[in-house]
Amino acid sequence: MNRVAVVTVGDELLNGSVVDTSTSWIGNSLREHGFELVYSISVLDDEVAISDAILTAVARADAVLISGGLGPTSDDLTREGIARALRVDLVLDSGLLEIISNRYALRGISMPENAKNMAFLPEGASGIFNTSGSAPGIAARIDGIPVFAMPGVPHEMREMFSEVLEKLSRDLRARSEFTYIVNVALSGESQVASKLAAWQESHEKVAYLASIGLVQVKVTKSSLEEARDAAAVAAEIIGDAVFAVNERAISLEEIVVSDLIARKQTLAIAESFTGGQICNRITDIPGASSVLLAGVIAYTEAAKRELGVEGISQSGTVSSEVASQLAIAIQQRYGSTWSLATTGVAGPGEHEGKPAGTGFVSVSGLRNHTYALNLGHWASGPSSNSRTRVRQAGSTWALEILRRCYLDLPHPNGVEPLLQSNPLLLQKKKSVRVQRSALPLEYHWVQRVLVFQLLESAPK
Ligand code: ATP
Ligand code: MG
Repeated sequence: MNRVAVVTVGDELLNGSVVDTSTSWIGNSLREHGFELVYSISVLDDEVAISDAILTAVARADAVLISGGLGPTSDDLTREGIARALRVDLVLDSGLLEIISNRYALRGISMPENAKNMAFLPEGASGIFNTSGSAPGIAARIDGIPVFAMPGVPHEMREMFSEVLEKLSRDLRARSEFTYIVNVALSGESQVASKLAAWQESHEKVAYLASIGLVQVKVTKSSLEEARDAAAVAAEIIGDAVFAVNERAISLEEIVVSDLIARKQTLAIAESFTGGQICNRITDIPGASSVLLAGVIAYTEAAKRELGVEGISQSGTVSSEVASQLAIAIQQRYGSTWSLATTGVAGPGEHEGKPAGTGFVSVSGLRNHTYALNLGHWASGPSSNSRTRVRQAGSTWALEILRRCYLDLPHPNGVEPLLQSNPLLLQKKKSVRVQRSALPLEYHWVQRVLVFQLLESAPK
């Protein structure tokens, strides 16, 4: 009893002028609350089409959600569509009319004549208060199935959705399934699935969702504890590449920011081919300001030199030397515990004789680790968005490499770091060349203090 269908209404959704984002948002929100979106359909602003779609949806699910077509104009026909499906008339609801006219009065404008249309409801239906717009929602029951109509404007729909969800939960007394998500970095779907093949034999509902450089393994069970326990075993099997196990999908940047906050450590970033994407991902996370000291997009050769990178003419801008010098320079400039730098070829096409997808990521902490990446896989395929894919993959690799560095985890499969001591630290103190894994926790503090001292004494 938790199967939900969605009907989206609007000419604009079918003629290519607006992409339907509401269905996927609803699908995801429903899943988070133990419901399943099993059917969706988009229809034109047409009374008969809306009514037909509702009746089809009613036959396929335990509840139906509708979005769009609730406004006051003549092309807003969801009210009429529901009434037709119910074979009833529209009747004026005086309570709704009062709410609508009060809303106009509060805004100090006179109510337009057509706004009254929004106070009509199919006979037997009730209104749902719209907290952020004027068109009320509609709650009805068709063939015993609860049907809720919400506005089309995405933010109004989302606000009303929480109220609808409460009604839905009350109605369906649903929650019979619980999902835990194992979030995995730098692995392909098939790679993760093959690791989990034996484990999966005793777990029925397992789904994989892959995006660029990331995989989510969704483990669904009939109780939260079972889902959590099964996901924990899967995470154990997958190993170091798991960066979070949670009831919801967690991003790599969320983990990096919360880990660095917990460790009271800071980060500075110098990006070339990722064009600011790493900074963007980090600053998307609340609390980023206590971690990220600075981000620089050093795109041109001149900008790289200005940061302190030397020897570009011999090695080219896309090289491990440039990546590592960028990382060291930005760490030095801002005195961060960690720094991250990227240089690469986003494509399409080659640069300096290096193919699209060539990339270097460098992380500086106590030592400098520079990794050569091959993102060629993301550079192939449709060229229209290959740059986006390469840069997205590059930023994911960079964040995961950083995570592995601060946790002292082994480097990712398939890439070997070019390790070098951080010259910034070596300049002053030879004793710093201790194996990082052998350091007691407090040492990180000592190291930070040392960096700051060095900066104090560094020539400006
Ligand atoms: P209102 O109640 O505010 O009058 P409505 O219920 O009449 O809205 P529509 O007129 O269908 O809703 O849509 C309003 C706006 O929301 C339009 O700009 C439309 O492009 C956008 N919109 C509607 N449905 C969707 C959807 N499924 N996905 C994304 N955008 C949508
Ligand atoms: Mg519309």
